[in-house]
Amino acid sequence: MADHLLIDGRLIAGDGDRFDLIDPATGEVHSTLTAADEAQLESATRAAATAQPAWQTLPQPERSRRLNAIADSIEANRDRLATALTHETGRPLARNHLYVDMARDIFRQYAEMARVLGGRVAPSNEAGQLSLVLRAPYGVVGCLIPWNYPLLLLAFKVAPALAVGNTVVIKPASETPLSLQVLAEIFAECLPPGVANTVVGSGRVIGEGLVTDPRVDLVAFTGSTEVGKRLAALCAEAVKPSHLELGGKDPAIVFEDVDPSTAAEGVVWASFLNAGQVCTSTERVYVHRSVYDEFIEHAVKLADSIRVGDPFDPTTQIGPMRSGRRRDDVLDMVGSAVQQGAEVLAGGDIVDRPGFFMRPTVVGDVTHEMTLMTEETFGPVMPVMAFDDDDEAFELAADTPYGLGASVYTSSPSRVERAYRELRVGTVWVNDPVVDNLAAPFGGVRASGDARELGVEALDSFTTLRHVHWNLELVPKPWWFREE
Ligand code: NDP
Repeated sequence: MADHLLIDGRLIAGDGDRFDLIDPATGEVHSTLTAADEAQLESATRAAATAQPAWQTLPQPERSRRLNAIADSIEANRDRLATALTHETGRPLARNHLYVDMARDIFRQYAEMARVLGGRVAPSNEAGQLSLVLRAPYGVVGCLIPWNYPLLLLAFKVAPALAVGNTVVIKPASETPLSLQVLAEIFAECLPPGVANTVVGSGRVIGEGLVTDPRVDLVAFTGSTEVGKRLAALCAEAVKPSHLELGGKDPAIVFEDVDPSTAAEGVVWASFLNAGQVCTSTERVYVHRSVYDEFIEHAVKLADSIRVGDPFDPTTQIGPMRSGRRRDDVLDMVGSAVQQGAEVLAGGDIVDRPGFFMRPTVVGDVTHEMTLMTEETFGPVMPVMAFDDDDEAFELAADTPYGLGASVYTSSPSRVERAYRELRVGTVWVNDPVVDNLAAPFGGVRASGDARELGVEALDSFTTLRHVHWNLELVPKPWWFREE
């Protein structure tokens, strides 16, 4: 695939190593690309740094017009983008159309929100002064994107970052560079040269090179906690701010005051959407013992009925996992839980066809000693445990170093209040799991990172504060040094 990098407004081929892109639904090579080399990475960061002052100075209505043009172009390329996403992620085409539409909406949202972004006038020390509190862009933002939602998670970062006057250098996951190629064409058409640049290449070389490049002023990363820790250390060394959106181990608590069958539908959705490869997937389920059997019966029936298959078939509900290696890891985790006494109630095996398919898997009789309940699975697995009272449910749900999200299924306001008070997470979903609201902030705490994307809050995330203390006239102050 030629000319898939965007550097300083030009679409060019990489000068680095060649690598194959594997389509997860077939297990075969879809295309061969060349990575950027280090000289191209340097050109990209230099272009971003050179373009930034003029981009920042552009009147806001003009910057907003450019972002709206990107949204229009995403809409015009809807099918191309969704097809590229389906080849690179294996996710059903219909869902990818939905994510393309969300990405378009995010660019529009920040085009409009940035028009009204303002600072404030703080009370000044004396009359004759103004104390202006302004928001200023950081400069160049290095954006590192994971493979599970390449376009959407890119939009989470790039739209607000550009809207407020930053320029960007984007590195996709090596497994999912296809949709970014289409987006690179859109950026080339809609933005001045250097404002958005894309570099494909390995995390170790191009990713770390981007993070440590002195021209990059802020790092915005979504990915695993392990890599996030390394990047946080590199940023600390350079005293560079970083936004980290990391892994999760989201719990769901099903109380006995709601219909267990309906709750099972919600939990099954939240566990198996995108074959469980969502950072906010429900990864462990606690069900009140009095409704456990009914919940399990319904969940197993539903899991068995999910249509797993060709992502281009409109009847398919779940595609493959992204890689065979990750599927093996997930099967190992299930196998080790079974050895420790858990029982596979649905799925538990691969689908016998080419590609990296795995059947939606429900596991019962789990305990908190099993890695299935403690480590991020990132696959189509739903481990379920019974609890006897609210204290036990909240204690189990809170028993994790992660803090991305949590779901509760209840009709009791006091249980909801307890959930958002006691569970240290970025999002609590009540009776409606794993829903993005573009108007509200998204992110985690603790081992899930500390960034906030989406909402009006993202504009704060991609700007820094600048205080202007302004004495309107030059008048000597009594405390200045004076000759006696
Ligand atoms: P990784 O951490 O492996 O990779 C994420 C990105 O970082 C990729 O672009 C990758 O490039 C790059 N990268 C990898 N190593 C380095 C490095 N040493 N220096 C710089 N960049 C590097 O995560 P995955 O792609 O495996 O994504 C899955 C993880 O992401 C899960 O843990 C999931 O929970 C988390 N996630 C979190 C979300 C959130 O919002 N909190 C949302 C979605 C996912 P390359 O592919 O070339 O290695």
